[in-house]
Amino acid sequence: MDIVLTGTGSPLPDANRAGPSTLVKAGDTHILVDAGRGVVMRMAGAGSLPGFLTAALITHLHSDHVCALNDVITTHWVMTQGKVRLQVYGPVGTAQFVERQIRALEPDIGYRIAHHDVLTAPPEVQVTELEPGDSFTVGDVSITTAATEHSPVKPTIGFRLEHDGASAALVGDTIPCAGVDELARDADVYVQTVIRRDLVEMIPNEMIQDILDYHSTVIDAAQTASRAGAKRLALTHMVPAPTPEQYPDWIARAADHYDGEIIIGDDLTTISV
Ligand SMILES: [Zn+2]
Ligand SMILES: [Zn+2]
Repeated sequence: MDIVLTGTGSPLPDANRAGPSTLVKAGDTHILVDAGRGVVMRMAGAGSLPGFLTAALITHLHSDHVCALNDVITTHWVMTQGKVRLQVYGPVGTAQFVERQIRALEPDIGYRIAHHDVLTAPPEVQVTELEPGDSFTVGDVSITTAATEHSPVKPTIGFRLEHDGASAALVGDTIPCAGVDELARDADVYVQTVIRRDLVEMIPNEMIQDILDYHSTVIDAAQTASRAGAKRLALTHMVPAPTPEQYPDWIARAADHYDGEIIIGDDLTTISV
């Protein structure tokens, strides 16, 4: 599998980092996990497109993780000429979110159906709402889920994808918890959204301080990776976003708590497992 960090940013606007999303390519099976700002542009950079997606998985309904799902839906609809149903999996609430996205797109949908004879119906999106512990198959990829902890955001779920003997845990925003340990156990790669507590604490802004209690810090992620026996730890959704010159410092802080390989990088960083 190739795990492409298509969006390593966060809600904070960044000229160089798209919002949170990760693309997993397992042969012809392309699976998107979350759909943050700029995701379709980054999918193109990763050699994929919404029309190639076997499924999109959603960890939670925070805007930074789903704000570009409308672009995925519209681009998939147009590129497949309305002939292929888009599969979306996510926590309870995802079906209503998608239905409202399509409602918001009604003017555009009407214009395109009026203008293109081949388009005869609105985008077809099949949403499967998941409970923690559910497992299912997408293409050749087996997927298991577990509850994560990002309160007051509820429900939130993380995913473990397995293909051809390789495994990847993609868990979204969460503090350390049993669900993440389970998903990351002996994984070839564990991808964690992270913040740096020491740096965030220096930012004199009450709303920024609020993020401290519901995200994993770099140290939390390293300790989880170590406890779970994950072979690689990939950091994403970094707050505050580091410059490339700062990557060694981020890695060093994680390496104090974890012996495996630590990956941090720009958008489109690719991990092959
Ligand atoms: Zn979140
Ligand atoms: Zn987030």
